[in-house]
Amino acid sequence: MTRMNELVMFNGKVVCPRCDGNGLLYKAKVTDLGNQMIYICDECEASWQDNIPIRRDTFEDLSTYLEKKGCNYRDAEIVNLGYDWYMNS
Ligand SMILES: [Zn+2]
Repeated sequence: MTRMNELVMFNGKVVCPRCDGNGLLYKAKVTDLGNQMIYICDECEASWQDNIPIRRDTFEDLSTYLEKKGCNYRDAEIVNLGYDWYMNS
């Protein structure tokens, strides 16, 4: 996948391009949104939908994203699918 070219790895995990090394991105699915796949930073909660290139200028706050979809951060069921997603993509 082309998106990998822009991402920095740390200990086999993908570094968040928004908070510059503080956070790592895990893949998650939002059960309430028909199992929509997203990537979330474990530090700053920047998020990227599955079909969006992961870059600093394309992130969306997780809460903003959920609200836009008619969900909210507190009630949304988000399943963490782990940090090794880049190996399978
Ligand atoms: Zn981050």
